[in-house]
Amino acid sequence: PRLANQIAAGEVVERPANIVKELVENALDAGATRIEIDAEQGGVKLLRIRDDGHGIAQDDLPLALSRHATSKITTLDDLEAVASLGFRGEALASISSVTRLTLTSHAHDSDEAWAVEAEGRDMATRISPAAHPVGTTVEVRDLFFNTPARRKFLRTEKTEFSHLEETVKRLALSRYDVALTLRHNGRTIHQLRPAERGIEKEKRVASLLSAEFIDSSVHIDAEAAGLQLQGWVGLPTFSRSQADMQYFFVNGRVVRDKLVVHAIKQAYRDVLYHGRQPAFVLYLWLDPKLVDVNVHPTKHEVRFRDGRLVHDFLFRTLHQALGSVRP
Ligand code: ADP
Ligand code: MG
Repeated sequence: PRLANQIAAGEVVERPANIVKELVENALDAGATRIEIDAEQGGVKLLRIRDDGHGIAQDDLPLALSRHATSKITTLDDLEAVASLGFRGEALASISSVTRLTLTSHAHDSDEAWAVEAEGRDMATRISPAAHPVGTTVEVRDLFFNTPARRKFLRTEKTEFSHLEETVKRLALSRYDVALTLRHNGRTIHQLRPAERGIEKEKRVASLLSAEFIDSSVHIDAEAAGLQLQGWVGLPTFSRSQADMQYFFVNGRVVRDKLVVHAIKQAYRDVLYHGRQPAFVLYLWLDPKLVDVNVHPTKHEVRFRDGRLVHDFLFRTLHQALGSVRP
């Protein structure tokens, strides 16, 4: 019972963006190297996420839709280790309870593909043969078709799509090694190739955010006291509104943190005499023991064991980097 209680931390589907996050994370967990996301009407009418991961065996297909079914946790230790990443075995169940869902998969060690369907709380256990290359496609239609009260909280197509796109941007900025495509109403919005070298990574950032951001930013690559910082900080010459272009990753996970923003802003102001919010895409790497990401599985919060150390490292690193390009 203890295990079940801990898993039931509760992931609630609020909008298409949440669904995309869960489904793309599942694809990444399955070792996908290529993920395609199709959305219609902001993702409310349709979401289709296709991956080339290891797939799901025929017998496991209906199981994958049931609550607390996860292939990723076997012991309590595992559970504690992965809790922060959201591996709770209920994403597919939650999503299928408020949509019309089709799960199609071809397991890597099988010759066949199979599909299961679920509509609201009616879970089909019947599975049917399908055509699909190795990997998985999850198709989700008509979000909240059975819960009109929740449908009312959905915003306009444009707003829902912008949330969805924001989610995809964060995922794309955290996994340069994976090819990602995002289409909306048949139009290609992002098409990203895997990026290994620095120049390819810059291209991905330019294509996701704006070419101007890369052109008017300073590149950061520093290490001290076991902390590592990489990425880009926009200079005042970057003309776009910057507050909505702040991406900070701690050990690969996107986080929002006051201390981090404070350190960056302070360095920016000290060096460039600029009070505005800088745009940045930054990656901090540190010993996982020095950071607690388990504060809340979905809120992107962190707690640094030594906040002062992190703050000073960020401030000093950026102070120096910005100072070197000061006009
Ligand atoms: P969790 O990811 O927490 O295990 P989910 O409800 O998201 O729970 O998924 C349930 C299970 O379905 C996963 O543990 C995994 O075995 C399987 N699964 C879901 N999506 C995929 C996918 N894209 N590729 C392979 N297996 C998947
Ligand atoms: Mg999952």
